[in-house]
Amino acid sequence: MDCIFCKIAHREIATPLIYEDDDVVAFNDINPKAPIHFLIIPKKHIVSLAEAGTEDAALLGKMINLVPVLAKKMGCEGGFRTVINTGRDGGQEVPHLHIHVLGGPQPWK
Ligand code: AMP
Ligand code: ZN
Repeated sequence: MDCIFCKIAHREIATPLIYEDDDVVAFNDINPKAPIHFLIIPKKHIVSLAEAGTEDAALLGKMINLVPVLAKKMGCEGGFRTVINTGRDGGQEVPHLHIHVLGGPQPWK
């Protein structure tokens, strides 16, 4: 399967990881939209949130619980934004489920 995030998750592309465990990896977004912008993805290939099933509940919970932990680790001191784009109309470009975490000082405020 030609999935860029599967390749990152399975270490076929040498993207530096922020976090890794048996089920999940996290890494910086290659095109950051905020001073801090990283992605949390499952190692399992799930196309999007719309394709996740009840069997994925524990995995999804683990990913969500990791958001504040990794946000703190990455220096999001004043809070963060969490985004999951889903499908064509949701603006999803990479068809492997991922959580965007965006933070850092907002220069326009
Ligand atoms: P989405 O539009 O929600 O599918 O977001 C996909 C995100 O993946 C975008 O913000 C891209 O900048 C990011 N991205 C794509 N390829 C890579 C890569 N090789 N390493 C890190 N981030 C990537
Ligand atoms: Zn994949």
